Amino acid sequence: MLSESNGPLNASNKAPSTEGRDPAYFSYYAMLQHQQNMLQDTVRTSTYRSAILLNGPVCFQDKLVLDVGAGSGILSYFAVQAGARKVFAVEASNMAEKMQKVVDAANSSDAEALGKNAFLKDKIEVVQAKIEQPNLPIPQVDTIISEPIGVLLIHERMLESYLYARDHYLKPGGTLFPSTGSIFLAPFTDAALWSETMSKARFWEQPSFYGVDLTSLYTDAKDEMFGFDPRTLIAPANPGGFIIDFYTIKLEELQDFTVPFIWQASYTGIVHGIAGWFDLQFSPPATIPNGNPVTMTTNPSAERTHWQQVRFLLKEPLAVNAGQTIQGWMRCVVNEMRSYTIEAEILLINDGTGQLSDPLSSPSPILHLDFNRRRNKWKLHEQTYNYNYYPQTGNDNIFRPEYNCLYEPEQPLDVTVVVENNNLLDDTTNNQFVL
Ligand code: SAH
Repeated sequence: MLSESNGPLNASNKAPSTEGRDPAYFSYYAMLQHQQNMLQDTVRTSTYRSAILLNGPVCFQDKLVLDVGAGSGILSYFAVQAGARKVFAVEASNMAEKMQKVVDAANSSDAEALGKNAFLKDKIEVVQAKIEQPNLPIPQVDTIISEPIGVLLIHERMLESYLYARDHYLKPGGTLFPSTGSIFLAPFTDAALWSETMSKARFWEQPSFYGVDLTSLYTDAKDEMFGFDPRTLIAPANPGGFIIDFYTIKLEELQDFTVPFIWQASYTGIVHGIAGWFDLQFSPPATIPNGNPVTMTTNPSAERTHWQQVRFLLKEPLAVNAGQTIQGWMRCVVNEMRSYTIEAEILLINDGTGQLSDPLSSPSPILHLDFNRRRNKWKLHEQTYNYNYYPQTGNDNIFRPEYNCLYEPEQPLDVTVVVENNNLLDDTTNNQFVL
């Protein structure tokens, strides 16, 4: 299975297909409640609307438009509002039939009288198909619109369908909305999340669960479970992020890529994992002047979106001092779960020792518990992106990041300690811990 190997993808080692997941994937999107969830993400929907309307005169007015994965059809309707001559709305799931109902009502002779979207009349062709299906009745278009974005930008692997549409249906010099996505990574500290995850995994440490020894599964349990408050970020993400340009990136490049990063710790603390999010940009290509670029961010300080942020927990946290530099990489390789298998390494480099290993090396030649280095592997589709956010209560609403920096070591310490208070977050008022 490719996701378990570390070798780079190449012609003889093809990316796993997404097709096995198609039935489940498209039955999910065939449900109105899931389309509604996206429609009600006001950051998402209003950003798309602004991007389309603000660029109406240059990218939509009298243009042919393709909507890849039209869903409820909302982006197609915006494109018509922006003056599109015709929109081809391609949707693989049965949501296409529902969209067709809206279009039929608009096309009917009494649409105007009934107020049923007469502005859409004869403007939209719904095509129920996967965009990858050959010989679809779609011409070359001036503009492609799509919302192919998953958690951390790349989950769901729908970006591959977006690039397919670009390569088959976009006129040279045409517009792609969105035009780029940028991935941001930053270390975070969250002892509560770390402890909660660890205590779940420790269930499998029991030598006698109803007389059965579960300990052989402990390592697997940790592998499975370890997969915001923005103030828990120990260092800022690299400005600008890792840019994926949808105009130019090749399909193969999207299937196996490595994001490098270098962070400087803003305060002394314990890194429990790596947080990730993304920005989206909507810009006409350089050849089309007078565009109005629009940007959307899903960063943890911004208004919440349904994508939230992803957090990759380290099995063994890493202590850092304020000002220390952490260097690393995160490699993302597609898997058959319509997602990515992710591997990352972080290395403290201020003491001048050590060297980052090669992300393509297989298997890792270094110890996971090198004192200044951590390397972990996760499945993106299994990670935490449904967070509990506990705002400070009481009068003490000044956040002290160091309150969140304590954790229980994986191995017992060399000293004998008596646990008097096991609640990690309880005894922080005087900035001390009772062990
Ligand atoms: N454009 C809508 C829906 C976005 S969700 C909106 O912005 O609200 C993505 C949609 O793309 C889903 O409805 C899904 O069924 C569809 N989709 C995903 N992959 C596709 C493919 N390869 N071909 C056609 N439709 C696809």
